[in-house]
Amino acid sequence: MPGRTLPQLARIPVTRLHGVGDRRAKALGELGIESVFDLLTTYPFRYIDRSRRADLADLAIGDEAVILATVRAVRARRSRHGRPIVELAVHDGTAGMNVVFFNQAWRARQLPSGTEALFFGTVDRFRGDRQMTNPVVDVVVGVGAADGAADSEEAQRRRTLRILPVYRASAKAGLSSWEIGAWVEEAIRRAGLLADPLPESWRRQLGLVGRTRAIHDVHLPGSIKAAAPARRRLAFDELFRLQLALVLRRRALEADARAVRHAVSPGEAIGPFGGGATLVQRFLAGLPFPLTGAQRNAMERLFAEMAGPLPMHRLLQGDVGSGKTVVAVAALLAAVQGGHQGALMVPTEVLAEQHFFALRALVEGLSVPDPGRLGGERPLEIALVTSRTGAADRQRLCEGLESGTVDIVVGTHALLTDDVQFHSLGLVVIDEQHRFGVEQRAQLRDKGRASVAARAQGPCAGADPDLLVMTATPIPRTAAMARFGDLDMVVLDELPQGRSPVETVWAATHDAEERAWARVRSEVRRGHRAFVVCPLVEGSARIQARSVTDELVRLADGPLRGIALGLLHGQMPSSEKEQAMARFRDGATPVLVATTVVEVGVDVPEATVMVVEDAGRFGIAQLHQLRGRVGRSDLPSWCYLLGPGETDDAAARLAAMVRTSDGFELADVDLELRGEGTILGARQKGRSDLVLASLRRDGDLLDAARCVAEALTADDPSLGAHPGLADELRLFLDPDEEAFLFKS
Ligand code: ADP
Ligand code: MG
Repeated sequence: MPGRTLPQLARIPVTRLHGVGDRRAKALGELGIESVFDLLTTYPFRYIDRSRRADLADLAIGDEAVILATVRAVRARRSRHGRPIVELAVHDGTAGMNVVFFNQAWRARQLPSGTEALFFGTVDRFRGDRQMTNPVVDVVVGVGAADGAADSEEAQRRRTLRILPVYRASAKAGLSSWEIGAWVEEAIRRAGLLADPLPESWRRQLGLVGRTRAIHDVHLPGSIKAAAPARRRLAFDELFRLQLALVLRRRALEADARAVRHAVSPGEAIGPFGGGATLVQRFLAGLPFPLTGAQRNAMERLFAEMAGPLPMHRLLQGDVGSGKTVVAVAALLAAVQGGHQGALMVPTEVLAEQHFFALRALVEGLSVPDPGRLGGERPLEIALVTSRTGAADRQRLCEGLESGTVDIVVGTHALLTDDVQFHSLGLVVIDEQHRFGVEQRAQLRDKGRASVAARAQGPCAGADPDLLVMTATPIPRTAAMARFGDLDMVVLDELPQGRSPVETVWAATHDAEERAWARVRSEVRRGHRAFVVCPLVEGSARIQARSVTDELVRLADGPLRGIALGLLHGQMPSSEKEQAMARFRDGATPVLVATTVVEVGVDVPEATVMVVEDAGRFGIAQLHQLRGRVGRSDLPSWCYLLGPGETDDAAARLAAMVRTSDGFELADVDLELRGEGTILGARQKGRSDLVLASLRRDGDLLDAARCVAEALTADDPSLGAHPGLADELRLFLDPDEEAFLFKS
C-alpha cells in the first residue's frame, strides 16, 4: 500500500507546517487540531464559489451576491429602542457599500477597519447608497490576531482559488478560516499520495473515489460538484471504521466463546401449552392473554439461538407497550429450566423494583425441580438487589445466588459488585440499555465465566451467558446499526390487541391546561389514575425534587384540590418510593406527582391520564416513554403536554407527539431534530466518529460499510491480511477496545 497512512499523518505535529509556531499551535490545539491528520480531517463546512463573486460596481439592487471587500470604517450605536447596531463602510475596489448588523454588537470587534472579508447577502438601496443588512460574513484577512497571515505566500495563492473552502474560524483562538485553509493546503501538497486501505475491488464496486482524491477534493474542489464524491468517500470511511470495530467485536466475542447450550426449543413458543412439561410452556400457558405474533416470533428466534452453539447477543426492539417484558421473562425461564440462572439489569432502583414485582406476579405459581425437597419441587425464586438492599438481606441473597437457590435476580448496577457470585449464570437481560456501557456488559459476562459451576468444571465450565438487550423506545435502523452493530436485532412490530390509542393534546394555553386538570378530576372520579410529571430541572437532583414538592402543594391548593396526591422522586428513600407506588397502584392516592423516575417501565393499567408539565423541556424519547405509562388497558386514555414549546425544536417535538404514536416514526423525527451527534457513545477517544457521515442521509453508505466489514473479516477476524486497515482502526479506538479487538 504505497503512500502515507493516517497513523503516519497523526504522528506529524502541526508545528511542521509553514508559519505554525508555538502560538498558532496552541490556538489550533484549542480546536482539537494537533497533528496533520487532525488538520486534514477538519473539513470545510461550506464552500464559496468565487466565480460567482461579483464586483460591487456591477451589481443591481436586489441581486444576491458574494462580495470580497475591505472594511474602511466601523460605527457602533444604539437604536432608539436601545438595540445595538453596527454599521460598516466597505469597498471592493470597484465601489463601496454600507453593511448593517442589528443586534450583533460583537461585529464591531470582529470586523475592525482594515479587515478583508466576504459578505454574502442581498444588495439593497438605503438612502441612495448600496447596503447589505445582516449578511453572512467570512473574514478572509483579519486584523490583529490573524495579522501575520495577511500577506503570506499561502494567502496570496488562495486568492486564485475558484472554490473557496470555509472552515469554522475561531475568534477565541484567534484563527481565521483563511489561515486554517492555508495550512490545510500546505499539508495536502506536502503529504502527497495517501495510502488507501480500502481494497481496490471494493472501491470500484461501490463507485467511491480514492483517498488522495477525496481528501484533496473535499478541501480544494475544482467545482462545487466535485466536493460531493469526496464527501461520500470520506463519509464511507467513517462509517466503515465504525462497522469494522463493531463486526470485529462480535467476531472476537464469538472466537473464544463457549456458549451455554440452553435446554429449550423454538417450538416451546408456539403451543398449545396445555399440560406442557417445560417451565417455559407452563409460563406461557398461564398468561392471561394470547401472545402477539411478534412476541411468538421473537421467542422462537431467541430460543433457537439460546439452544445453539454460539452465545446470543441480541437487541430486542419494540415500541412502548409492545410487551417486551413477557419475551424477556420467557427467555429467563428458558435459562432456568436448564438449571441455570438469569439476571435482569435495569438502570434505576424504581425500575428494578417495578420489574421485580411485575416478574414475581408473572411467574407466580411456577416451580422448579429440587431433589432435596419433598415432592421434588420448590417455588421458582426471584430476588431483588439494589444499592439499598440491607446488609443481612444482601448476604442471604448472595448465598442464594452462589448456591443456585435463587433462579432469577433483578437489580441495578449493584449486581456488578464483587460479592455477587452466581452458581451458573445463563442469561443476562439488560433493559433500557442506553444507560449501560460496554464495560458493564463485559463485567456481567465475566460473572458468568466465573460461575461456581464453571469453577467446579461443571458441564458449562467457563461459559459465557447469553445476552439480551432491550431498548426503552425504538431507535432508527441506522442509529441502531451504528450503536448496536455488534448485536443481532429482533423487533416486536405489533402491539397487543385491544389497546385504545392515547389521545394526545398539546395544551399550550391556559384554557387548554384547565381542560387537562378537568380531565384528571373526572378520570379520578371514575376510579382511574393520573400521573403529573414535572420538568427536569437542570442541575441538581435536589432542585428537581423540590420542584415536584412545590408543584404538589400548588396542585393540592388549586386545580386538584380535594384529591389525594402522591409524590415520587429519585431522592426519596426506597421504602418510601415503594409505598408511593403501592398507594398509587391501589388507588389510595389516585394522582402521582412525579419526576421522570416514572419514565421507564411503570405499569399501572388503571392509569388513564398523563400530564407532562413544561413538556417542551423533554426529548421525544422521554415524552414517548411517559405517554406509554397510560393506555395500557382497554380504557380510553389521554396525554396532555403542557407549555408553549418555546423553541422551534421543542415545538416540533410536541407537534410530532400529537401527530403520531408510532415509536419508530418518532425515533426518525428525533434523529432528524437532534442530529446524530448525541447518538453515538463516547467510544472513540476524543475524536468524534461521524463528522461527515450522517445517519439520516447516508443509510446506503452504512449498509455498504457493514457489508464490506463483514466480508473482509469473515475469514480474517483480526485483519491480518489488511494491516493498513487495522492500523488505521487503532487510531480511533480507546486502549481497552483496541486490546480487546486485536489481542494477539
Ligand atoms: P414494554 O414493551 O413497553 O416493556 P411491557 O412488557 O411492559 O411493554 O407490556 C405492557 C403491558 O402489556 C403489560 O401490562 C403486559 O402485561 C401487557 N401485555 C404484554 N403482552 C401482551 C399480549 N400479548 N396481549 C395483551 N397484553 C400484553
Ligand atoms: Mg418495558
